Amino acid sequence: MSGWTLWNLPFFDSGHADLAREVAAWRVQNHEEPSAEALADVCRDIALSLGKAGILETVVPQRDANGGWHLDVRALCVAREAIAYESAMADSVLAMQGLGTAAIWLHGTPAQQERYLDRARRGEAIAALAVTEPDSGSDVANITTRAERSGSGYILNGAKAFISNGNFADHYIVLARTGEAPGARGLSAFIVDTGTPGLAAGAPMEMMAAHPLSGLTFENCRIPMENLIGEPGQGFKVAMATFDIFRTSVGAAALGMARRAFDETMSRVTQRQLFGSPMAQLAGVQARLADMKVDLDTAALMVYRAAWAKDMIGGRCTQEASMAKLVATEAASRVIDSAVQIFGGLGVTRGSLVEQLYREVRATRIYEGASEVQKLVIARTLLSEQR
Ligand SMILES: Cc1cc2nc3c(=O)[nH]c(=O)nc-3n(C[C@H](O)[C@H](O)[C@H](O)COP(=O)(O)OP(=O)(O)OC[C@H]3O[C@@H](n4cnc5c(N)ncnc54)[C@H](O)[C@@H]3O)c2cc1C
Repeated sequence: MSGWTLWNLPFFDSGHADLAREVAAWRVQNHEEPSAEALADVCRDIALSLGKAGILETVVPQRDANGGWHLDVRALCVAREAIAYESAMADSVLAMQGLGTAAIWLHGTPAQQERYLDRARRGEAIAALAVTEPDSGSDVANITTRAERSGSGYILNGAKAFISNGNFADHYIVLARTGEAPGARGLSAFIVDTGTPGLAAGAPMEMMAAHPLSGLTFENCRIPMENLIGEPGQGFKVAMATFDIFRTSVGAAALGMARRAFDETMSRVTQRQLFGSPMAQLAGVQARLADMKVDLDTAALMVYRAAWAKDMIGGRCTQEASMAKLVATEAASRVIDSAVQIFGGLGVTRGSLVEQLYREVRATRIYEGASEVQKLVIARTLLSEQR
């Protein structure tokens, strides 16, 4: 580093650098990739460990002195970057505790906040967010899971797909159609507790990298009125407020994985001898290293600009969050692809770190809005600013 570090940038205060150091000291117990069946236990253990270390406070805030809930998005990104550097699976556990509670701390009632947040922050209860359906992923406004008014609550019917923590969460934030208006304005958000009669989780899915995913079905699930989050018809807004915070942090997680691949690469190019000298001497390798470094710094600047904007300017910051996720996840994928290339045969050997990172980073360009969806969001915000 040429005399200054990321922490000298005006996006941060001294607390962020301290947090980065503390989080970087956290270690996952076992680096082996668990089978899909074993993931539930592994993720529960990780959640408890992250809770004990206080790291879950970066995704499930404490109530502040004024009775409000404020999440520092820079701290969230710093934590996700450092945890993803250590373990992509641990990053998923960290992120889901936030994604599966944000609707509650942003829009929930005091009773809901009292009931769900402390245990999630300690890692004792596992949270999940269920938006995607077999026939609607990118097009969130098109979901068909229905919640119909019945007596003093709702009856929920439908199916969700690709739900992180799907088969072992203690509660799910579920987006369902309640029909106040067509499309996005006719959705509501609910808390569905595990054990609710009619709720069933599918078998754990086999993914290209270990990630705890399964589908969910709801068959005449009775949801009490007190489990509605916010107003009926506000579910899309509730979900988008969550994504507005967490989208930027997907970029931070991808950046953490890319930094790990880059550090591995730097040590490889100085040790590996090629054509009689360390491969770092080859011009082609140096050009690749330069490209990787530019990608890393570009990703970091976009992520921390968006996080700073959310913290210091406030409001929606949708465009900045989408740009951060788009740029950082695409850049991280290029960096890790370059790492694989520089490692040669070892890079494509099952079990090598860069091979694992190559598989792990891939999904970041798909979940919480694929790259193409981020471009759509960026263009829409640009055009709406022109009106
Ligand atoms: C590891 C992982 C974890 C996940 N966790 C969760 C979770 O916890 N909760 C949850 O609700 N969902 C979760 N998802 C689901 C995820 O959000 C969806 O997969 C994602 O939104 C894309 O939806 P889809 O898979 O249905 O793809 P589709 O919507 O069918 O889109 C397919 C592809 O089409 C392209 N595309 C989409 N829109 C456009 C457009 N407007 N213009 C051009 N091209 C476009 C993109 O390349 C996209 O990848 C997870 C997915 C993965 C892979």
